[in-house]
Order: sequence, then C-alpha cells, then structure tokens
Amino acid sequence: ALKAHDTVRRVLLPAPRSFCAGVERAIEIVERLLEDHGPPVYVRNQIVHNAHVVADLEARGAVFVGELDEVPDDALVVFSAHGVAPAVEREAAARGLDTIDATCPLVAKVHAEAKRAAEGGDTVILIGHEGHEEVVGTIGVAPDRTLLVESTAEIAALQVPDPSKLTYLSQTTLAVAEVETIAEALKQRFPQIKGQGAEDICYATSNRQAAVAAVVNEADLVLVLGSANSSNSNRLVELSTSAGVAAHLIEDAEAIDPTWLENASTIAVTAGASAPPRLVDEVVQALAALGPVEIIERVHTRETQEFLLPQRLRPTAQRRP
Ligand code: SF4
Repeated sequence: ALKAHDTVRRVLLPAPRSFCAGVERAIEIVERLLEDHGPPVYVRNQIVHNAHVVADLEARGAVFVGELDEVPDDALVVFSAHGVAPAVEREAAARGLDTIDATCPLVAKVHAEAKRAAEGGDTVILIGHEGHEEVVGTIGVAPDRTLLVESTAEIAALQVPDPSKLTYLSQTTLAVAEVETIAEALKQRFPQIKGQGAEDICYATSNRQAAVAAVVNEADLVLVLGSANSSNSNRLVELSTSAGVAAHLIEDAEAIDPTWLENASTIAVTAGASAPPRLVDEVVQALAALGPVEIIERVHTRETQEFLLPQRLRPTAQRRP
C-alpha cells in the first residue's frame, strides 16, 4: 500500500506530455473504422506502443496481428503509426487486402527522405534502435542501401561503398542530444555525409524531452507513463536518470512502488506520446489520495500540430476533389 503523509507534496506536470498528433490520428483511424465498417478491424502491429490503448481498441473489436498472413483475404487492415516497409504494402496489394495507412506523417517524411537519398545513389545511414518497428519500416524503404547505427561506438567500423555518397537519417523518437552526438561523429568520419542533425526527431519527442529537462532538477522523482516498448517514453526516463534523478517508466498508477515515494517531496509526472492523458490524471489522483498535494503545471511549449485523416476517412467537406 502507498504510504500517507501530512506535509504538502509538490506534483510537477511538465507540458507537453502524453498524446501527440500522430498517435491521436492513428487511434482515431481505428475508432472511425470500428464505427463505420464495424469489427473486426485488423491492425498490423500495435497501433501505437501503449498497452492501454491496444487493450481498449481490442475490447471494441480491433484485432492486432504481427504479420499479414494472420489476416483473412477479405479483411480491412490498418498499418500502425510506426510505418511499414514497402514490401508489406506490396504483399497487401498482391492479396487485394483493403488497407488504411495510419503511419504518422512525420515517419512518412523520413521514408520519403530515405527514398530520395537511395534513388540519388546514396547509402542511407539510419540512426535508430534495431528491431523497433519504425526502424524496420524505414530500413525497408531501401533495404540494400541502408545501414543501421545505434551508437557512436559503431561508427569506426562502418563499411560504406562510397564515402562521398552518404545521407544519414534518424528514428523519430530518439534522444535529441544522443542523435546530435552520433551525427557529429558521422560527420567526423565522413565529412561529405548529408543530413540535418536531429531534425528527423519529431516535434512531440523533442518537446516532451525539453519539458522534462526544464523541471528535472527540481524533482526528487520522475514518473513516466508509458509502455516498455515505447521508445520516446524510455528516452524521458533516461533523460531524468542521466540528470541524477530517480525515474521510472510505469504502465499506470498501479505500477507505482511505494518505496519510490519515500522522501520524494517533489514528483514530476509525465507521459510518452503514446500514453493516454487519463493515466496521468490517475497518477495525480493516487498521489493526492496519500496526503496534501500542490499540483503545478509547467508549460514548456504549447503544441498546435494536427494531422488530417486519410482521404477516405475525412468528412466529405475536407476531401480533395
Ligand atoms: Fe508521429 Fe512523433 Fe507522435 Fe511518433 S511520436 S506518432 S513520429 S508525432
């Protein structure tokens, strides 16, 4: 059980936190399809990397699969926010599956950059985490011309066909500081490499990191709502621990270990881009149930980004002729 206290505990809420525009769009796509088409709506991979979101949609008739061979021929299939390799799109087309692409437009932008670079004869060096679904999809754009780099340690041993024909790109949900360091090291080794620093990291990832960085030194503890496979959520934990502050990734309020709260008079609570806002509210409620709390919203940036739904899901008035 969580332990009660009588001194006022401060709860800092860095903003922005929780859902980004790409996640909201992906969830809305599945929700609309469940309403308009009715279940089952198949989704290849988790629509976003959050166990609560997935369980909620599953309860309403979404069926999550790892590969297209688990989907019947006449099914409606959604591709997740992390994007898919062109080979998967071709497989779906060859089977005549009805597909809707929920790939975040900011991931699609990185795919377009990879395609342009590869078509121009460059080798693409992708900074990212091996096995992450977004990375699998981006490598799939030009599988024969893409090399994956996870850390600066790997750069010395990189073998490239032509050092004058290189472009680097990155996964959208990495740590801004780390990508900058890796990009610098790539430029040292390959002075002619093209790329734009940490530009491929999406606004939501960098804003959530900056918002946590702005409060972390005031906190005794940082709680990050997010699932274990959520890249941007893990980066928020790392950012906090590397600032010397205890931090934990939690699926929900139930995952709070009471021992973490001992001597924690200021607690920052944030959430990765795939974690629903209600999970933050529940943590705040759980903390408030233990004793007096002062809740302080710390707005670093206000986000206004919105993404249009795919054409066929838009209200008629918004469709292009
Ligand atoms: Fe898009 Fe960034 Fe959100 Fe991923 S975290 S869905 S790239 S906005």
